[in-house]
Formats: sequence, structure tokens, C-alpha cells
Amino acid sequence: MKDFRYLPGVSTLKLDSETCTGCGMCTLVCPHGVIALEHKKAKILDHDGCMECGACSTNCPVDAISVTPGVGCAAYIIQTWYKGKEAASCGGPACC
Ligand code: SF4
Ligand code: SF4
Repeated sequence: MKDFRYLPGVSTLKLDSETCTGCGMCTLVCPHGVIALEHKKAKILDHDGCMECGACSTNCPVDAISVTPGVGCAAYIIQTWYKGKEAASCGGPACC
């Protein structure tokens, strides 16, 4: 998604291509089209398009993706104000 951006270079999204089995789940759940399958492996196409919602990581069956909720999740940020960072969580794909 090129017209909806967050701060450049701050997303914590990481992909372990070796572990990826190419199931495609992350490409289905990502609301911003950040990840695509290429040669039967997930590939990050638009790192700065990631809003750190956590949907890809939550739905990856082999834990090949990691991301820490933060810059793009309004619910997470608001929860940190009254719950603290440890207790706050992102609501996932339905959240943002
Ligand atoms: S954290 Fe959310 S926006 Fe970022 S790549 Fe994963 S599903 Fe897409
Ligand atoms: S969900 Fe995990 S295993 Fe499936 S394509 Fe994405 S990174 Fe690879």
C-alpha cells in the first residue's frame, strides 16, 4: 500500500526465509500487501508499509516472521498510556 505510510525505517518486521515454508498465510492476512510469495518463499516487498499489526506473525505456522507492535497500532499505543508497555497488546488485523 503506497499511499498509507508510517515512519520510514522503523518497522520491527523481520522474516526468516530459511524457516518459511511458503504457505502464503502471511500474504493473505497482511492488510497492507507488505509481503508476497516469490519462488515459494515469503518476501517483504514494502518494509515501510508495515504498520506492525502482528497479523503475519500471529498466523505464521512456523514462526518465520517476527514483529513488535508499535508505531502503527493506535490501540497498542493508547493501551501503553493506561496499562503500561508490558500489558499493552495490538488487536491484530481487525484492530487497524
Ligand atoms: S505486521 Fe501487519 S502490516 Fe506488517 S507485514 Fe505483518 S500483517 Fe502486514
Ligand atoms: S506465513 Fe510463515 S511460512 Fe507461511 S509464507 Fe508467510 S512466512 Fe512463510
